[in-house]
Amino acid sequence: MKSESIKYICPQCQNENIQALSLYYEADTRQINFTTIGAGVTVDRQGVAGLNGSTAVTSGVAQSVLAQRIAPPKITDEKYRYNSLWIRWVCAISPFVIVSFMKDIPVAILLGIILVLLMVKDMQEAKVRKARTDVIFQRDFDEWKSSWICGRCGHIFQL
Ligand SMILES: [Zn+2]
Repeated sequence: MKSESIKYICPQCQNENIQALSLYYEADTRQINFTTIGAGVTVDRQGVAGLNGSTAVTSGVAQSVLAQRIAPPKITDEKYRYNSLWIRWVCAISPFVIVSFMKDIPVAILLGIILVLLMVKDMQEAKVRKARTDVIFQRDFDEWKSSWICGRCGHIFQL
């Protein structure tokens, strides 16, 4: 019984007031949103622009410095790059194919094959990159989900 309670303390300051990071993040974000709404009302009444304190507005979502520190990991732009690959390649290939077909058919076919092979290679590399990114993201997210935060010193740790 005693050994179990020892497990659930902050390793830095031995405080027992610890909370799951994901729940803490949710509560903190909700509180900030409420604060922003409050500030918005003040702006309307007094006609004064700007938010006070340490809140920063990013695309409609306000996050405190703490919320940014405890935010879940984000997927990098690798996913977007993977999705936009087809468009990039179509844009690159089209002029070559059109011009080549107008002059020399065998050269156009050869060029087409080379470009398709390059495209396949690029797609496969992108798939590998995406898979690697997903693995890293999943690992970071699992780590984030199993993290705890100390209510006294703000230390983030895992049990
Ligand atoms: Zn602590």
